[in-house]
Amino acid sequence: MVEAVLSLGGIGFAAAVALGFAAKKFAVEVDPRELALLEVMPGANCGACGYPGCAGYAKAVASGQASPNLCTPGGKDVLEKIAHLMGVAAVSADPQVAVVLCQGDNALAKAKYRYLGVHDCNAAQKIADGPKECPGGCLGLGTCARVCPFDAIEITGEGLAVISRQKCTGCRKCVAVCPRQVIVMRPLDATVHVLCNSRDKGAAVRKYCQVGCIACQICKKTSPEAYVIEDFLARVVYEHHEQATAAVEKCPTKCIRDFTDGYPQGSTFAPPTVPVKGVAA
Ligand code: SF4
Ligand code: SF4
Repeated sequence: MVEAVLSLGGIGFAAAVALGFAAKKFAVEVDPRELALLEVMPGANCGACGYPGCAGYAKAVASGQASPNLCTPGGKDVLEKIAHLMGVAAVSADPQVAVVLCQGDNALAKAKYRYLGVHDCNAAQKIADGPKECPGGCLGLGTCARVCPFDAIEITGEGLAVISRQKCTGCRKCVAVCPRQVIVMRPLDATVHVLCNSRDKGAAVRKYCQVGCIACQICKKTSPEAYVIEDFLARVVYEHHEQATAAVEKCPTKCIRDFTDGYPQGSTFAPPTVPVKGVAA
């Protein structure tokens, strides 16, 4: 009995010594600034900063690999705390908002076939490059809406994704999952966008979408500095976005939208207010 107790005690002692040694030998040094930064972050782990979560971003900031102004959901308050801990000035990044470059919902754009598979845009895209005739139009199965941590995306009754300018924090999660690259980041203070993503010639676009860009150049002729046409698709030149409004009414297919006038057809989002630079509206 005494022998058994002694041998068990010996094993326990040896294990304790080994564990103590291992803890010292393999201890990971954590920068105390990294822990302090993590404390001031919102803990949403939304990915807005471009890192998988707050811990990854805290580590990157502490090691000087990331800018202190990438936590958009944290706003001014978090930026000031991070800048204070890092001993730098709190300079905000220009705020961005995600925009779906499409208005071709099921009523306005033609379907190639009836899709009855899994309710997921990536799954649908794998079958003959998606059920829509337009190669770049929104498929409307809501994969983006399901990944948005801020409930900022709705799918209209006619199957079009629409993003709220008020709720979007610019985290880009929707951009990463969309198989059609129809969601892009745009400066928050720009309210006029060409909502089309088709690079087909105008004649082809006319056949499958009532609201697609036909590259007729009218926008460019109306506001030469504010538009470029590339690959048969008009785009706003955001350095001159203030001049883009003049072409909204002139566009024959109405694919240019000024979001201060409201969201695309079928959206339930309240009319967006004109954003104040640096502050989500
Ligand atoms: S924007 Fe992209 S992910 Fe969202 S519903 Fe449209 S195709 Fe699907
Ligand atoms: S006016 Fe409209 S359809 Fe024509 S090129 Fe400009 S955006 Fe496209």
